Amino acid sequence: MTAAKLVIGNWKLNGEVARVRAFAQRAARDWPGCEAALCVPHTMLAAAQAAFGATPLRWGAQDCSAEDEGAFTGEVSARMIREFGARYVLVGHSERRTALGETDGQIVAKVQRALAAGLTPIVCIGEKAEERDGEQTAMVLRRQLLQLVRALQGGLASVVVAYEPVWAIGSGDAATPGMIDHTLGFIADTLAFHGGVSAGAVRILYGGSVHPRNAGAILSRKSVAGVLVGGASLVPDDFIEICKAAARCSAPRHEIHIQQGSVSAQ
Ligand code: PEP
Repeated sequence: MTAAKLVIGNWKLNGEVARVRAFAQRAARDWPGCEAALCVPHTMLAAAQAAFGATPLRWGAQDCSAEDEGAFTGEVSARMIREFGARYVLVGHSERRTALGETDGQIVAKVQRALAAGLTPIVCIGEKAEERDGEQTAMVLRRQLLQLVRALQGGLASVVVAYEPVWAIGSGDAATPGMIDHTLGFIADTLAFHGGVSAGAVRILYGGSVHPRNAGAILSRKSVAGVLVGGASLVPDDFIEICKAAARCSAPRHEIHIQQGSVSAQ
């Protein structure tokens, strides 16, 4: 597994150009040294490119079209996003699956467009509360992953997967580290079994109510390659605190502590 933990912020339908600049100033002044990016609204990509370009902070978008060009009014293609120097694009966020009815097939097409454009897609998967309560989590996650695995095969290692239980998003209640370990282990096994990738070849993030108070406990788990952060990514101090936790939990020092059984080491 990649030793450096990844922190991705999802601004959703929030923010403004002034906030992009405030983050850039903060990142230039006080950067903890982890790998991090903010996924901003499309209209702020130009500002992100101008402001973050001189900082260690990277940037990305929150969606891309399943199409490359043509008569698709209002759509933004992966190629257009890449033109602004973006490195990442979120695909299949639960808010889009639920509110806009995005299907697994459309999500696979978006991932393929993103890869072709040179972006790293971050594919969001996760179960709803009623699916968790009905003990359907494994079935839901397997369904969300299988089309992707079959379509990509060799390209799978270029994708980042974000496990975001829908019940944890915006609720203030993250999944427990034990639940996260268990579920990320299941996702890694599914990718290995159906996609033939070796364990750890695909980075798997956790998302859902990550904030400065719980980031260390979550990021210290060996199964967690990083976090996807919504609300707390809008506040520079909170985001930087999470990035600091990620830097502390990155190898090599962290790996040594894990091997010694001290999972709380940061
Ligand atoms: C998200 O929507 O991707 C997310 C993780 O949100 P929050 O951190 O606010 O739960």
